[in-house]
Amino acid sequence: MTFDELGLGPNVLKAVKEAGYEAPTPIQAQAIPHVILGGDVTGIAQTGTGKTAAFVLPMIHRLARGRARARMPRCLILAPTRELAAQVSENFEKYGKYNKLTMALLIGGVSFKEQEMLLMRGVDVLIATPGRLMDQFDRGKLLLTGVETLIIDEADRMLDMGFIPDIEKICSLLPPKRQTLLFSATMPPEITRLAEKFQNLPKRVEVSRPTQTADTITQHVVKIPSNDAKAKRTALRRVIETCEINNGIVFCNRKVEVDVVTASLIKHGFDAAAIHGDLPQAYRSQTLERFRDGELKLLVASDVAARGLDIPDVSHVFNYAPPPKDEDYIHRIGRTGRAGRTGESYTIVSPGDEKAWAGVLRMIKKDVAEFMPDGLEAELADLPPDEGRRGRGKGRDRGRGRSDRRERSEPRDEAPAETRERDTSEKRERRDRSRDRKRKDDDLILEPAADGVKGFGDHVPDFLKR
Ligand code: AMP
Repeated sequence: MTFDELGLGPNVLKAVKEAGYEAPTPIQAQAIPHVILGGDVTGIAQTGTGKTAAFVLPMIHRLARGRARARMPRCLILAPTRELAAQVSENFEKYGKYNKLTMALLIGGVSFKEQEMLLMRGVDVLIATPGRLMDQFDRGKLLLTGVETLIIDEADRMLDMGFIPDIEKICSLLPPKRQTLLFSATMPPEITRLAEKFQNLPKRVEVSRPTQTADTITQHVVKIPSNDAKAKRTALRRVIETCEINNGIVFCNRKVEVDVVTASLIKHGFDAAAIHGDLPQAYRSQTLERFRDGELKLLVASDVAARGLDIPDVSHVFNYAPPPKDEDYIHRIGRTGRAGRTGESYTIVSPGDEKAWAGVLRMIKKDVAEFMPDGLEAELADLPPDEGRRGRGKGRDRGRGRSDRRERSEPRDEAPAETRERDTSEKRERRDRSRDRKRKDDDLILEPAADGVKGFGDHVPDFLKR
């Protein structure tokens, strides 16, 4: 199968050619012809399968025919996180460069003003996180009655983050006669119900989910005898020091862990920066760009923040602990060893992580070699317990699998950053008044971030310049 056989127009094909793609991926080959004809699609695929192009390419093709009208976008794309929304917009720019289509991005942490002006003029495509979209809709800045195509990306993540009621509300505001595309890595019952309620005879396109880790990745487990956070941080540092890293991602299970681990790495002289849902958007974009450009060596991330991000191949992945959801282990370590290159992963497992680690091993059906950096065992034995945790967490950690609690708390832990964007109108007015007073004509003054970078620093991400 070639791209020429899918029914895409010459402008889209030219952009695809420039992107260097030789052939459509399986999800593209199956979804694109159906989307071009206006049909609904339920795509069960995760990141890395080419799913973004599977909806962006035919969407551009279809939109090429009409014209944008003020405040009435013709296509609405919903994504769970700001980064994913920004990434979809980058794809739209890449594949749409030969089509004169307009786009606005409504994501939290970014000034309304510029996007509002774009909306007023009329955009073909609106890419948004649900919270920010509802906010803008409630302000009367937006009419959704002209939406011909709705695309819901990463629906299962939306569920994890508590966005399903927002999505239902948004669907009820759209014209009933429309095309609806829904993409999700998994199909839990809530998402199946959503698809049944809002889609019309969708074509189901499924790309098999890997439950196997790539052979190009050499996996290690570092088993330490203590649940103490200080011991874990020490182990992480020693492991990183032992490796010859080009660049690496350190995955943590919670936002607070991301912060503590990043601060500890920086304190010990490592070139590290954090990315998670509570950090200002501009800082997150800037950090990602620095990492992509090779200016930052270690990215410390939560699963939700890193999910779906198109980060180029990294040499090492470090798991500060095994993930609460087994399949996230495959996503995490799949950040390395891409496209035939080799990569290494190291997972730190303390006694409280054993249950989660056993789940990972059951899923990957592989043995993972144990690794212990020279001198670490002795160093950990000499380590005084972490002051902050002494007498608190340890007993609880022993009594109940720590991973169990993490599993329940993680989505809630990540969700508020987006959900909080929606307030009651009264609260919002108050907030806006005080914000206006504070910000005057500079909408983007942000809190200094962990490493002292304020706002954008010297950098403005591309999507904000539009
Ligand atoms: P996605 O699953 O949408 O996150 O895409 C993952 C990566 O695959 C992105 O870097 C895309 O640029 C790339 N990609 C998308 N379609 C193709 C294709 N047909 N051939 C090669 N790479 C592709």
